[in-house]
Amino acid sequence: MTKKEQRFYYCPKCGGKLAYRCIKEERPRLVCGTCQYVLYENPAAGVAAIVLNAEKQILLGRRAGGKYAGLWCIPCGYVEYDEDVYCAVRREFKEETNLDIEPVGVFTVQSNFHDPEKHTVGIWFRARVTGGEPLAGDDLDRVGYFDLSAPPPLAFPTDRVVIEYLLADIKSLLQVN
Ligand SMILES: [Zn+2]
Repeated sequence: MTKKEQRFYYCPKCGGKLAYRCIKEERPRLVCGTCQYVLYENPAAGVAAIVLNAEKQILLGRRAGGKYAGLWCIPCGYVEYDEDVYCAVRREFKEETNLDIEPVGVFTVQSNFHDPEKHTVGIWFRARVTGGEPLAGDDLDRVGYFDLSAPPPLAFPTDRVVIEYLLADIKSLLQVN
């Protein structure tokens, strides 16, 4: 890793000053000068669900606000600190699309580096709808099904990668059958 830009300046435990120090011959860590607390900078976990309709179109949502407003994404969200990842994906999908889903497997896991302020590890589940009607909510203002080969402008580069993987998967399935 290249030289780090410091993102945090005060200890979350005691309010003391943080500075990068090399401890145990590891990469430099942010260490509190007062209580010696080490602030490990780890990515947050995110979850997303891939729902396809009978025409193999994917359900996407348009982001309502923030820096990605007007751009589309595979419905997703952060895992709460005390929350199981499967509960998180069901909850986020319900909040954003009004659909009840059941995850049927992990499709892919990707590192997201597009936001330098907050790196995340995203888990994209395949899921089937078990109830509800599509209705945008929470961070989204529209939801809709789109052809995998012609998605609308996307908010996140990793969603594009995931859609390309899905497209390749479906093409290979069609070749087999
Ligand atoms: Zn401290």
